[in-house]
Amino acid sequence: MRAEFDVGIIGGGPAGSTAAAYLAKAGLKVAVFEAENFPREHVGESLVPATTPVLLETGAMAKVEAAGFPKKYGAAWTSAENRDIDHMGFSGLTHDFRAAEILFSERDQPGVDRDYTFHVDRGKLDLILLKHAEELGATVHQGVHVRSVDFSGENAVLSVRMAGRTIDVPVGMVVDASGRRTHLGGQLKLKVPDPVFNQYAVHAWFDGFDRTALAVDKSKADYIFIHFLPVSDTWVWQIPITDTITSVGVVSQKSRFKEYGGDRERFFWDTVASRPELLDALKNSDQVRPLKTEGDYSYGMKEICGDRFVLIGDAARFVDPIFSSGVSVAMNSARLACQDIVEAAKAGDYGRERFATYETKIRRGVSNWYEFITIYYRLNILFTAFVQDERYRIDVLKMLQGDVYEDDEPAALSRMREIVKAVEEDPDHLWHPYLGTLKSPSVAAGN
Ligand SMILES: Cc1cc2nc3c(=O)[nH]c(=O)nc-3n(C[C@H](O)[C@H](O)[C@H](O)COP(=O)(O)OP(=O)(O)OC[C@H]3O[C@@H](n4cnc5c(N)ncnc54)[C@H](O)[C@@H]3O)c2cc1C
Repeated sequence: MRAEFDVGIIGGGPAGSTAAAYLAKAGLKVAVFEAENFPREHVGESLVPATTPVLLETGAMAKVEAAGFPKKYGAAWTSAENRDIDHMGFSGLTHDFRAAEILFSERDQPGVDRDYTFHVDRGKLDLILLKHAEELGATVHQGVHVRSVDFSGENAVLSVRMAGRTIDVPVGMVVDASGRRTHLGGQLKLKVPDPVFNQYAVHAWFDGFDRTALAVDKSKADYIFIHFLPVSDTWVWQIPITDTITSVGVVSQKSRFKEYGGDRERFFWDTVASRPELLDALKNSDQVRPLKTEGDYSYGMKEICGDRFVLIGDAARFVDPIFSSGVSVAMNSARLACQDIVEAAKAGDYGRERFATYETKIRRGVSNWYEFITIYYRLNILFTAFVQDERYRIDVLKMLQGDVYEDDEPAALSRMREIVKAVEEDPDHLWHPYLGTLKSPSVAAGN
């Protein structure tokens, strides 16, 4: 069968629409098959600045700016602990338990021309990006589900469900951007559960929530806030969606959620009650969306590319949302994959070895994220100590900006790992009681 498209993309979220934009701009014939009709609700509402170069390159930035999403200038963390700064020192690191914050403007980031990124209503953002890809020349089908891909012939053949009929669409190669449904990961049996993380999230939108309620510096109330709870491995996000609406989500271990017999209401309200000022602020606002759960979301893939396919975004890997990395990884994985795909198309060869650069860069970036996240969960006071320490602050900020693809391991990560090891090995260490329960194995799945 002759290929109808150079590239067929499964899924029109930020990964799929960004890939479609790059490929259409490069003059390739590309089609996106998106199962849902946009706008559709989606978790993942706070961006990091590493999305900016991608939005500028695809030309979508002007439309994203015009949408009027709240601007995000930085990130802040608060804690239930309330101790003095000095007596917890380690190797010259001191730590204020109450709060930490960073401003993106503290570090120049290559390709980033503004000191903010955005908090977004994903229904709106994803629609803007998909329409943008269409305007650049991609063929976009919404409400069209990809059922399977046949790789046995000369081309890849997508079997799609369209207007009540199943149709075969032959394409040169397939980009799987199906998100956590991991379409090809499932079909090709590539998916491996994450050995460390088994987190669960319950979230909703609240109107009139007082964003200053837990903020130490009240002028920073429109940052993303991560509130640590006095419950092991558990935290809450606070993300502005509009002037008055705030997204609030609890992330905890799945085993804790199970203790509540899967009752999301009781789980959410009991958990936020561990920070009474958070509970009060939520109770004094109006919940405008029902609580939604997100589970089983941490996994890796044995392969992220092969003959005639690459996996991008959540379809390739998902760890944990603590540092708001997901949409940035989705867009940057699309950017990196498309550089190889364009070359492969020119050569008329979509063999696995054509995607080697993509594989190396994305694995490096994602494993930096992974390491950072595991260290955070293991000893989160170390994270706030590093943010406050001038020797490491900029290095940590670089990771928080999402600038993780070009370098090998950042120096702060190696230092953090050494400190965690020392604290683990010394039961008398002042920080020992603060070790979390999630432990990183030496080699994590899919790294
Ligand atoms: C609890 C939680 C909180 C998060 N918070 C953040 C955050 O604050 N910031 C952040 O950046 N990220 C966050 N994320 C991550 C973020 O949601 C994802 O990383 C991001 O949406 C990935 O984009 P994507 O395009 O890969 O996948 P998606 O956005 O999921 O898009 C995939 C698309 O593929 C479609 N699809 C699936 N299967 C098929 C099929 N067979 N045929 C056709 N279409 C199909 C789906 O309908 C969907 O529209 C969070 C994630 C979780 C779980």
